[in-house]
Amino acid sequence: MGDCIFCKIVAGEIPSARVYEDESVVAFLDINPVNPGHTLVVPRVHVERLTEAEEGLLAAVAVAVGKCARAVMAATGAEGFNVLQNNGPCSGQVVPHLHVHIIPRNAADGFRFGWRQGAYGEGDMDAMRRRIAERL
Ligand code: AMP
Ligand code: ZN
Repeated sequence: MGDCIFCKIVAGEIPSARVYEDESVVAFLDINPVNPGHTLVVPRVHVERLTEAEEGLLAAVAVAVGKCARAVMAATGAEGFNVLQNNGPCSGQVVPHLHVHIIPRNAADGFRFGWRQGAYGEGDMDAMRRRIAERL
């Protein structure tokens, strides 16, 4: 779609280190890996966010993520891995084409997420639970 770099990779118009493809998705190495083997799984169709993908596509992406994660683990000998998926610039999404990161991890790799955790005020957790549940 237009200038989308991942659409161009899917179409083969720009090079990528492709590790897997099927009728719904393509997976390739991230060009600037957190750790070697860092892989991106992207749908062939251009959707920006997880919430824009229809259920069949989500299922295909999830199956491919599992398949690729097993291969990344076997190939790298990593101790574990993160699956990360950003939605919107505020979340850190730089490429506006749905993609799932598979990041192989080792205890000594020196990488840490800057996880910040808060707490709910009295009643706020249940109010939020209701707001979300009502929309499902
Ligand atoms: P995000 O911040 O979730 O949008 O992640 C986008 C990722 O795409 C980053 O980790 C980039 O290193 C990666 N990336 C950008 N351009 C390319 C490319 N041409 N080939 C492979 N990975 C890319
Ligand atoms: Zn695209």
